[in-house]
Amino acid sequence: MKQELIFMGPPASGKGTQTKKLAAETGLIHVDTGSLLRAAMSEGTEAGKIAKDFVEKGQLVPVEVVAQIIKDRLSQDDVKDSFILDGFPRSIEQANMLDAMLKEIDADKEVSTKVIYFDVPIENLMERIIYRRSCPACGAIFNLKTMPIKQEGICDICGAELVQRKDDTEEIAKNRFDTYFNQTAPLIEFYDKRGILKKINATGSVDEIYEKLKDVIK
Ligand code: AMP
Repeated sequence: MKQELIFMGPPASGKGTQTKKLAAETGLIHVDTGSLLRAAMSEGTEAGKIAKDFVEKGQLVPVEVVAQIIKDRLSQDDVKDSFILDGFPRSIEQANMLDAMLKEIDADKEVSTKVIYFDVPIENLMERIIYRRSCPACGAIFNLKTMPIKQEGICDICGAELVQRKDDTEEIAKNRFDTYFNQTAPLIEFYDKRGILKKINATGSVDEIYEKLKDVIK
């Protein structure tokens, strides 16, 4: 049976870190719209050029741009049996688009879909964002306060130079939270009504959260 996992939660709720861990352990493929958009932006594609302004302001990129990127990605062979979708959908409109896309892509397949909601008190998140550093080469995520790195500015895993995402500043993060509460949070009820929402308390250490995650996706 095809396994489809959709991870949702506010910015910096730990979805990316947990997805990477789960993907490394299980081989499930991580499809992440934020990374796909950042890649399109650095390659300078048409989609990337449109996305840049929105990403840098902490707003949602126009739905038709994201939907095309995600449809192309979900149609590839490596995700035909399972995937973890992180960062999409981010609005009811996108959720309806995803339903239509998957209806076509999955056709007669038997599918198990679970939506995992990472529940974290909002007051913990701003600090996570401001101190977050990411590796542009291997995608690892660090936090200067809670996950100190061995050599300043250098990725512990692959040795590349770490960056602070342009949208990981306090000012832009405020917009990202507003966007989340206004447009993305209504999806909690949307998926709960369908009976496919699994909520995890995403506070605690990475390993503690990972155990809770494994429990709900069993
Ligand atoms: P993330 O890496 O998930 O925090 O996403 C970074 C930024 O990419 C967001 O603040 C949005 O500007 C954009 N983005 C990511 N996913 C979507 C989406 N599903 N719809 C619209 N914009 C998105």
